[in-house]
Amino acid sequence: MIHKLGVVGHPVKHSLSPKIHRAFARQAGLEIIYDKYDIEDAELGLFIKEFFANGGKGLNITIPHKLNCIKYVDTAATAVKRIMSANTLITMEGGIFAESTDGPGFLKDLYVKEIDINKKNILILGAGGAAKSIISSICLGKKPDSIFISNRTQSKVNELIKLLGTDEYITPIDFSEYEMHKDQVRAMDIVINATSKGIDGKFSWEDDIPVHEETIFYDLSYSKDQTSFLEWASKFSNNGFDGKGMLVQQAALSFKLWFDFSPSTEEVEELLNE
Ligand code: NAP
Repeated sequence: MIHKLGVVGHPVKHSLSPKIHRAFARQAGLEIIYDKYDIEDAELGLFIKEFFANGGKGLNITIPHKLNCIKYVDTAATAVKRIMSANTLITMEGGIFAESTDGPGFLKDLYVKEIDINKKNILILGAGGAAKSIISSICLGKKPDSIFISNRTQSKVNELIKLLGTDEYITPIDFSEYEMHKDQVRAMDIVINATSKGIDGKFSWEDDIPVHEETIFYDLSYSKDQTSFLEWASKFSNNGFDGKGMLVQQAALSFKLWFDFSPSTEEVEELLNE
């Protein structure tokens, strides 16, 4: 049996998901077809419906459809309802089900890299879908000392804090208020780039971010060479990681949802560097 999978986005041509999932399928001994679908927003609903009606097993959702796809599913995981973002769809008994593996994939990659975020001060740059997913996962599963958020559009920081502010463990703080907290909060231990700034050029952010020599810089974006965020961050510290690890981990969690098989991720991450 050949399983039909795919990733839908706009644009989608640079997606590495087919390469990753084909490698996972080889490990699992499964035959799959995994295609890229470049679909505009107006056609998304019809595309999802027809993909599954025509035998589709699972879909990955990427920019800019992570929010809008939720309108076209029958059920969704609690995390998806909370952050209103999904990156994985599957057909189940109750119809099309939406899950978000971005946040859990990010935490898994931190675990693999032995980056412990408990009791750490974290600064997240960005307040879009990816920032929402990772902050939500951090707040639900970990106990950092503080999470600050900085974003180009200030109103989105406020919206995000309102959305995630009722967490049991920790409430994110607007980084523009750091001065008010600096007597209680040490420098940032981890700075995470969850923006799409600098993908096609140079990255820059305000330079007076409070960091120390051991601060870890983690870029959700990835590239074959050093990313522009990590290039910018190198003036502060050389502890930098790009988002390939997270990409592979979130894909592995999608694959597990589709086939109940947990692929080995190490060799696949190496494949992406080739
Ligand atoms: P999104 O929802 O469109 O959010 C984009 C974010 O980037 C917003 O905070 C936006 O700020 C900011 N931004 C964009 N251009 C900017 C600029 N020129 N200057 C300053 N800020 C800018 O996108 P997303 O889904 O959160 O994705 C963000 C990044 O994470 C992308 O590069 C994506 O590829 C990456 N990502 C990686 C993985 C992985 O597995 N490694 C998974 C998910 C996402 P405003 O609010 O001001 O517009």
